Amino acid sequence: MEKSRLALALILLGGFLVTSDATTATPSLNFTSEGGWGPTTPPGRVTHKVIEKEEDEDDVSATELGCPPLGLESLKVDDTQIQASSFQRFGLGPHRGRLNIQSGIEDGDLYDGAWCADYKDRHQWLEVDALHLTRFTAVILQGRNTIWRQDWVETYKVQLSNDSISWKSCMNGTQEAIFEGNKDPESPVLGVLPVPVVARYIRINPQSWFHEGDICLRAEILGCRVDEPHSAKDTEPKDALDFRHHNYKEMRKLMKTVSEECPDITRIYTIGKSYMGLKLYVMEISDNPGKHELGEPEFRYVAGMHGNEVLGRELVLNLMQYICREYKKGNQRIVRLVTETRIHLLPSMNPDGYEVAYKKGSELAGWGEGRYTFEGIDLNHNFPDLNNIMWDAQEEADDPSKVPNHYIPIPEYYTKEDALVAPETRAVISWMQDIPFVLSANLHGGELVVTYPYDGTRGWAPKENTPTTDNAFFRWLSTVYASTNLAMANPERRICHYEDFQAYNNIINGGAWHTVPGSMNDFSYMHTNCFEVTVELSCDKFPHASELPTEWENNKESLIIYMEQVHRGIKGVVRDKETKKGIVDAVIKVEDHGHDIRSAADGDYWRLLNPGEYKVVVWAEGYFPSMRHCHVGMEPRATVCDFSLTQTPVQRLKEIRAKGGKIPQDLQLRLRALRLRKLRASTKAINRRREGQRMQREQGRKARSPGRL
Ligand SMILES: [Zn+2]
Repeated sequence: MEKSRLALALILLGGFLVTSDATTATPSLNFTSEGGWGPTTPPGRVTHKVIEKEEDEDDVSATELGCPPLGLESLKVDDTQIQASSFQRFGLGPHRGRLNIQSGIEDGDLYDGAWCADYKDRHQWLEVDALHLTRFTAVILQGRNTIWRQDWVETYKVQLSNDSISWKSCMNGTQEAIFEGNKDPESPVLGVLPVPVVARYIRINPQSWFHEGDICLRAEILGCRVDEPHSAKDTEPKDALDFRHHNYKEMRKLMKTVSEECPDITRIYTIGKSYMGLKLYVMEISDNPGKHELGEPEFRYVAGMHGNEVLGRELVLNLMQYICREYKKGNQRIVRLVTETRIHLLPSMNPDGYEVAYKKGSELAGWGEGRYTFEGIDLNHNFPDLNNIMWDAQEEADDPSKVPNHYIPIPEYYTKEDALVAPETRAVISWMQDIPFVLSANLHGGELVVTYPYDGTRGWAPKENTPTTDNAFFRWLSTVYASTNLAMANPERRICHYEDFQAYNNIINGGAWHTVPGSMNDFSYMHTNCFEVTVELSCDKFPHASELPTEWENNKESLIIYMEQVHRGIKGVVRDKETKKGIVDAVIKVEDHGHDIRSAADGDYWRLLNPGEYKVVVWAEGYFPSMRHCHVGMEPRATVCDFSLTQTPVQRLKEIRAKGGKIPQDLQLRLRALRLRKLRASTKAINRRREGQRMQREQGRKARSPGRL
């Protein structure tokens, strides 16, 4: 932690200056009494205060709380380190008293949403053993997570101990400190110790609680280890990357720096703007940035569609720094990846939401703040639901195999100006259309699992296993990420919240977990050629900055090896036998795989497949179909299967008649293109209107304060 930032953490509380790293160094306390269980004289009341950010925030990081969390939320603190005076049942035991822990829908199982004391009196406590002498600086409290009850703690005391036998109350001057807790079950509330105290054990001791509820809480403790090993060798991460949380301006600056460091292989571009006008920046990495090369597959990572799930954003920023440096160093694996792949990295799909979470900081953002866009839209439900359109059509058809299984057009309602489609979603749909992406991952947080399509379920059932016809390959893709991720693959790890994904090797069909109608994964697979999975990167949606080097190590290999999977299966170019020109929109059909893909503008195509022997048929409007047997090996190197198609006599005649006029495409393609044009037209109209409103506001503001510069 940088000392300069600590200045921000100095908070004046009721006349007490809360000290930070720079000023305290008391190694231990002399305990003189049993601790403050007796009746109290008028208590010294400590009010919580939300730390405000400074006006000029250009170079100021998120809210700093002095010391990092011990890790009740991140699970760094083990279950055995948490004890309690009593608990109602195992599912509400002390190990559940962790900030932001989530419970299942039903109460009463092993995984309820808080620690709940068995008695309602003032002698209840939750105890945390920090294992080392620790300078405790603050407590963060939250109520119980359940939709059926209302439980939270309104005021509490804090006790400290070196041996867990004799306890001393946290004092506010000469009086026992009383901390203000929660007013609702969800919002985390910070209680700063009037003076930091060095000890090994800490207790939270509720004094009053919501009158209709029980004594239930979730907590985090902030503290700095006193005997922290300061040898730089032990703590310095292997890759010296910019490990911190980057707000919008800092993100832009970092991307610019990377681009300046590696001008030959990078290009920054934008795909649109958020509702509040923040640009959606993409970093392109390729040996020929700015253009599609014939036969070279395109890959993308999308992070931050839920603005408060921030780890993906930082990992993607780390990844661009890492690739740039390793490429320059001549790391053969990275050089090969960059030379043979066109990589696109979108670190923040929902920058408006991110800024909301960032302002609260890693411990106080809670579970939901910043998830949605400024308009309140959940972007992962905002793509058109093409699943049910296809499933309904299959049900009604005499021969379901004749129903189109790919390139499903956007429905008409979705293209309207008043459709509830976020500008962020519109931007990403256009982007997906412009670039012939082959493979992608959508980075989220709050769990440790990789999910693969479909996310949608038939008739929007809450849960249903809905595998695609490419299920085996999607499971391979998910396994590649999950089995190389050090956090997921750790057999010792405990479950994040209430679901045990280790039982499924940390991968699961999206619909089998919970339905997500209108997800980006499903849209990508059904509307374009691109295969996409969702990676839930960590139990904690907003890890503390000090966790970022570890999280990079956890994900580094996974992020790289996943990109390399874009080189699996078969690829090639579909050409006109006579003219040798590439044929766009040719259909590539693999026998026994009920999901076709199409060739890109130059006739090149990529078909992701597991190792095996395949019968591949290619056809295009006006051509005779062509068939080939293609072999896919074990190594990640696509087998080249080119096709030359012969025009049908009817087509020749047509072309002669049209004398170079437009060749009519099949109906579905025309409809797909038409709908996309309509969506883009409505996006333009919305942008024009919003720009007008913005300018009006701007003029109004200027008119009101004419003297201001
Ligand atoms: Zn998410």
